[in-house]
Amino acid sequence: MTRVLLLGGTGDALRIARQLASGDVYSLAGLGKVPDDLPCTVRVGGFGGSEGMARYIADEGIGLVIDATHPYAAQISANAVEAARCACVPCWALRRPAWQPQAGDDWRMVGDWDELTMALAPFRRPLFTLGREPLAHLDEIPAHQFWFVRCLDSHEDTERSRILVARGPFMLEGERALFALQGFDVVVSKNSGGSATEAKLEVARERRLPVVMLRRPSLPAADREFESVAELLETLHLSH
Ligand code: NAP
Repeated sequence: MTRVLLLGGTGDALRIARQLASGDVYSLAGLGKVPDDLPCTVRVGGFGGSEGMARYIADEGIGLVIDATHPYAAQISANAVEAARCACVPCWALRRPAWQPQAGDDWRMVGDWDELTMALAPFRRPLFTLGREPLAHLDEIPAHQFWFVRCLDSHEDTERSRILVARGPFMLEGERALFALQGFDVVVSKNSGGSATEAKLEVARERRLPVVMLRRPSLPAADREFESVAELLETLHLSH
């Protein structure tokens, strides 16, 4: 049976990991929770670049790499394709389709942090839903702004920021209540795709709020790409 190396750190990857066998390996960067109830082996921490991953693939007799990391985790996705090529094993990837703007949406696309802060200049109460990155910029908050930062990391509030420690999925009713309570006037988001964190976009649409959207990084082509966990698992079971 082909030994699988699954690169994860997302809810989708966890769903795949639950279907793996005891000889397979689920790999995490080590930033979040490490599950202890999986049927497969769990390893934690970087490999040391694509060369390190290629060595790991060879040493452990891995026959298939599956990249199910987050669409913005561009480095590990590039490493996966390169390492699998060097080790002469196939690399499959779960490439979650991006959200698409709908009628009434006001999305302002930005490429990096500088463009993002410029796009936010007209607003007073942004909700950041980008992960931990804004925490490194709390001392740069313009005088006219109060930031709300929703992320997994706990951090003290400051005079002009509030950290909302929360883990998705986020439901529509909860998001409606949060937006109404805090009076955000703009949402800052990655285009993560999927349903777990999509409700904020619906509430932004309802409230006619702009969304400052960080563009997706480009990712290298994998040998096979899947848009859904179900499609990937079906192919995996058929070929296993
Ligand atoms: P990244 O920039 O693409 O990767 C940075 C380095 O972290 C990689 O070069 C690798 O180190 C290590 N790494 C990342 N994912 C790994 C994995 N699954 N197993 C082993 N090593 C891994 O990644 P990132 O954006 O910092 O994200 C880190 C992790 O968080 C990813 O696994 C991703 O799925 C998850 N995540 C990211 C986001 C996001 O917005 N970026 C959101 C939700 C979850 P070496 O080079 O030493 O191998």
